[in-house]
Amino acid sequence: MIIQNVAVLTKEGVSTHQDLYIREGKIAKIGEHDPEARDPQTISFGDRRILAIPALVNAHTHTGMAFLRGVADDSPFETWLFERVLPREDRLNGQDVYWGALFSQMEMARYGIALFNDMYMFTDQVCQAVADFGMKACVCRGLVDQGGENGRADENLRTFKHWHGYQNRIRVGFGPHAPYTCSDPYIARIVDLAKETDSFVHIHLRESKRERELYTIESLARLGLFEVPCYMAHCVHVEERDLEPMKGSKAIVLHNPSSNLKLANGVAPLSLFKEAGLPVILGTDSVASNNALDIWREMLLTAIVQKGVSGDPTVFSAEDVFRMATEDGYRWLGFPGSGSIERGAHADLAFLSMEDVNYHPFSFEDPCAPSKIYSYLVYSSSAKDVIGTMVDGRWVYLRRSEGSAPSAFSPDDFPTVDAKRVIEEIDRMSVRINTDG
Ligand SMILES: [Zn+2]
Repeated sequence: MIIQNVAVLTKEGVSTHQDLYIREGKIAKIGEHDPEARDPQTISFGDRRILAIPALVNAHTHTGMAFLRGVADDSPFETWLFERVLPREDRLNGQDVYWGALFSQMEMARYGIALFNDMYMFTDQVCQAVADFGMKACVCRGLVDQGGENGRADENLRTFKHWHGYQNRIRVGFGPHAPYTCSDPYIARIVDLAKETDSFVHIHLRESKRERELYTIESLARLGLFEVPCYMAHCVHVEERDLEPMKGSKAIVLHNPSSNLKLANGVAPLSLFKEAGLPVILGTDSVASNNALDIWREMLLTAIVQKGVSGDPTVFSAEDVFRMATEDGYRWLGFPGSGSIERGAHADLAFLSMEDVNYHPFSFEDPCAPSKIYSYLVYSSSAKDVIGTMVDGRWVYLRRSEGSAPSAFSPDDFPTVDAKRVIEEIDRMSVRINTDG
């Protein structure tokens, strides 16, 4: 495949009028635009102002919760979880989660995301939806053991055996939901499973203030939690001394600013993590928490909220934050070889239309363009400026310029699924699940 005449964001800067050659899922060549070059799968955007960037990463999701968008807005965290979310989840079956995970991938592909890190139930169906839609994913079963063992860890292990490594697109780990829903022996057992399978754990950690009284980080370290790659969602209520057991470990922070702010849980101390050498990557959480699987918003909030609370406008630059949402995301979620545009890298790419008013007065010819581009990407961009997303060189979203108006939604833009049917299924399911009670 040749993608013709686009601007390309590389580590060295921005190059205009380039052709991208994609072979067997990887970037084979980046070269000056050659109008004579031919390939059966040539894609040309004509003279449009299109920028190719590494596709984004969403490092904390619950994709099966697609049907819960907006069901518990402006509620206290406890009401949100125990009165609104959990009773509805009891009504779910595997097919619901399959359609939810497909729909969530449509939303993420629309926003330029190629990889996500998911925790939910019915994980075989989540993996099937990833296989069918075509994104990359880390998947784990949300595990709780209130009231004794319930077989969920076995279900998680079965999913691992069946799906881990699928087309090099799916990694399966283990998902102890949170220290307040899992006993110590249960967490220790899950850590053992992750060690035995050379996999990872994904957990919610210190999301809300009350968790300070419920468990210590030290006690989790004693259970071996940080001896395996440990994806820790939220980490809002941690102090400097809590980070001691994590230093030099395999702990990775998943930062979800929209969710933390909307549920009034607070602001995570990212500067402390940076000083402690802990990697931080960005996630949205579910649409019940922040109402959109939009990493562009999380990039903006990461940069401006950290500046706002520290009183220092130099912290978390646009370039740093963009890297957290791309290169660092792939690296720490176990997908090396993605996240930058260079020869030999996986073709996990997003294409951005830079034609609208929010991209002016930017000029690619400006000598400062290589540094200014990150400012535009983090502070001015909008998720809906994405016109194409590909995973391993395969389109999962492509808005063609001909036909409907550029801003109109079209189910035809999702080549791997029957998008109209997915939307019908999710709407029907939402009516059934979201009855009160
Ligand atoms: Zn979560």
